[in-house]
Amino acid sequence: MTCKEVEKMIPLFLEDDLDVDDLRNFMEHMDKCEDCKEELTIQFLVLEGMARLEDGNVFDLQNELKFCMEDAGHTLKRRETMQWILYAAQGLTVVAAITLIALVAVLF
Ligand SMILES: [Zn+2]
Repeated sequence: MTCKEVEKMIPLFLEDDLDVDDLRNFMEHMDKCEDCKEELTIQFLVLEGMARLEDGNVFDLQNELKFCMEDAGHTLKRRETMQWILYAAQGLTVVAAITLIALVAVLF
């Protein structure tokens, strides 16, 4: 994933609008790319910080962003788990269907 692609995803990330694969790639890129992290920090500040300051709250940028990233990490894990459960359920359904067909074929 290139920096350009990641940059385009930042607004989507901040609105929690990325799907599991995009979110995973996004987080991985943020882990090792300082440029994109800086861009994220700026956009985060603009989007979240301004809203917060308008409400008259204090805004601790570094901490807030850290929470936001941690939260995204948790969300990613949760969604990945859900995806696996869905895959497993689909797999089981297929196995059950095949078993049933095989059983019907043997019995009748
Ligand atoms: Zn980058």
